[in-house]
Amino acid sequence: MAIRNIREMGDEVLTKKCKEIKEMTPRTRELIEDMLDTMYEANGVGLAAPQVGVLKRVVVIDVTGESPYILINPVILEKSGEQTGQEGCLSVPGKSGQVTRPNYVKVQAQDVDMKTFELEGTELLARAICHELDHLDGHLYVEKVEGDLHDVTQNQQD
Ligand code: ZN
Repeated sequence: MAIRNIREMGDEVLTKKCKEIKEMTPRTRELIEDMLDTMYEANGVGLAAPQVGVLKRVVVIDVTGESPYILINPVILEKSGEQTGQEGCLSVPGKSGQVTRPNYVKVQAQDVDMKTFELEGTELLARAICHELDHLDGHLYVEKVEGDLHDVTQNQQD
């Protein structure tokens, strides 16, 4: 268990495409544990591996604070609807901006045992899934912001 340093916008690692995870290793398990610790410590609702400087296709998400989802090699299978709302990112501290995302997504991923599963999400979970998956391809939400980025003092960020 360890808290890792969260990389911020401007760091090149956040602009790179991540590599697929082919097998679970002790090193990757440790990465995932650390990502969970780091996300909770920062009061985030999601974290992607490149945000801690690792170019692997894994994200952790917890929109309720009770049960985290660990998504390895996630792929969006379906999306529908639309939601527009404020979004933030632990890699863009103190800012938020309006982003339109699908209101529903269905994603396929592997769990820590590399078993394939599907996850459906609506509203905040759908938003978090889309946001975190963008990180795996080197994209930040600021590319999608409608209007200006705003300063926030205290806000839940992902
Ligand atoms: Zn983010």
